[in-house]
Parts: sequence; structure tokens; C-alpha cells
Amino acid sequence: MKRLLQDAIRERPLLGDGAMGTQLMIAGLEQGNCGEAWNLTHPERVLAIQRRYVEAGSDCLITNTFGGSRIMLNRHSEANHAVEVNRAGVEIARQAFDEKDGYVLGDIGPFGDFTEAQVRSAFEEQAAALVDAGADAIIIETQTSLEELLIGIQASKAAGAQCIIGSMAYDVTLDGSTFRTMMGIEPERAAEFMEEHGAHIVALNCGTGMEMERARDAVERYRNVTSLPVMVQPNAGKPQLINMKVVYDETPEQMVKGLIPLLRAGANIVGSCCGSTPEHIRAFRKVMDEFLESQGIDRKGGQHESQTL
Ligand SMILES: [Zn+2]
Repeated sequence: MKRLLQDAIRERPLLGDGAMGTQLMIAGLEQGNCGEAWNLTHPERVLAIQRRYVEAGSDCLITNTFGGSRIMLNRHSEANHAVEVNRAGVEIARQAFDEKDGYVLGDIGPFGDFTEAQVRSAFEEQAAALVDAGADAIIIETQTSLEELLIGIQASKAAGAQCIIGSMAYDVTLDGSTFRTMMGIEPERAAEFMEEHGAHIVALNCGTGMEMERARDAVERYRNVTSLPVMVQPNAGKPQLINMKVVYDETPEQMVKGLIPLLRAGANIVGSCCGSTPEHIRAFRKVMDEFLESQGIDRKGGQHESQTL
């Protein structure tokens, strides 16, 4: 039996992956078009991106299904493909591991302004499709409100997900003193709420101004109130508009400097969000392996069990 993600990461930290959206753009997706539909129309391009992350050293891949709910797909008149888009997303990520051990995290992004009934049924449909296709976990990402997060957790439970990750997007306040979500949720409140409602991993991703050092602060603040494992995916710096294109300014060399402090603070999964590339993940891999070695932890340690017989 494969170890549950939430158990494996208590023994040693795992490396996540980097951005999908910006990589899809590089692969030819036009601004405003539906990247998730590519799971059906251009699966080989999605696979190529995820293979590069596996080659760079990712232990976990997040499916290309961020906007794969019925509600979000409907903006591109793709709502009737919701189940297939999510199923294909899991299959492509699994294929990218190519027989290697690895965790496929089924991605669900935020919905925004819809009725509770609409959001609930969209969450339920997407979570069920991801779990049925064999995702090892569901990650409910870029969340800003606890109400929506709760519906996501409940839908994931109903779908039979073995591991549920709740990931909040925090913004640094104008005076720079702290960070909270757009809806005013602080990390302590989010972590307590997730633990109370049965999530297995508390996380953060994206956000404004949440670089590696802020992410470390968030790990510490999570750790103060919960014993659940922690996952972080900071952006590769701040977005800047250059020639009408959004560019993220942090290089792998700059970003990786923040990795050891993050691991020391107790981050159990470290990946990266907007603007990051396989090169960022490759830099993370090297430093993470050095860190594991210095701690006497075997990188493949926890996975031997799953390989016996
Ligand atoms: Zn992001």
C-alpha cells in the first residue's frame, strides 16, 4: 500500500512542483483561453510540462485542473466536459511520474461569487472526478474565505479523498506588518478552522508579497496553533508588467535562498506558485537534498515500504 501523503511527509519533507499557468502560456496557450481544456485537446503539452517538473525533482504534481470546475469551465463553454477534464488531469500527472513513486494532488481553485448551492455542486462534481481518477489528495487552492474552503473540504470528504489540503492565499498588508487573506482571514484562524473541519494538511499559495521569508513566517504561525503538516507554494517574486506581459522577477538562485529557513521552520511540502519554472524546482531539489543529508534523512526513506514485494 502506498503511504498516505500526510503520513509520508511527517518523516521527511517532499518537493512540490512549480507554476502551470505561466508554463502553458510558454507552450502556446493564449491569454484568456482555457488551459484546463488542454487536458483533452493538447494532453501531450501538459504532460511535457509535468515531466519537466518530475525531471527537476518534484515528488508531488498538482493536476492541471485549477479552473476545472463546472463553474469556471462554463466561462469557456466547456462546462459539459468538467468530469473528463478532471479525469484527464489526474491521468496526465500520473503518466508524468512514469512508474516513479509520486503523489498526484488533484487541484481545485476558487470560485468567487456564486450561490452556495452552485459552488457546492461544482466542488462535489470536481472532487469526485479527481478522486475517482486516482488522485492521492485534493488541494483546495488560493482560498480567501472560510465559507468556500469549508464547502471544498466537505465535498472532498464526500468524494472519499484520503488527504485534503486547504491552501490559503494571503496578502501582505499595506504597512507591511502582517498578512491576511482578501477576506481578512489570518493564518492562525485558517489553520484552526481546517483542523476543526478535518483537513489533513494546512497550506498557503500565491498571494501578494508572500515571498519565501513571509512564507516562513506563515509556517511558524501555522505551527503555533496546529500539529497538522504544512505545505507552502510562494510565488516567484512579485508580478511586473513588462511589454504588456506579466513577468515574475525572482530567479531560482534568489528564491532558493529562502528554502532552508522554510524547512527549518517545519514546512513539510515546498513547491512554488506563479512565475516559477522547472529551473526553480531543480534548484530547490539540490538544496533540499543537501538539507536532508545533513539531517540524516534518506530522500526515498518513507517510500521503501510501498516498494516491497
Ligand atoms: Zn500563484
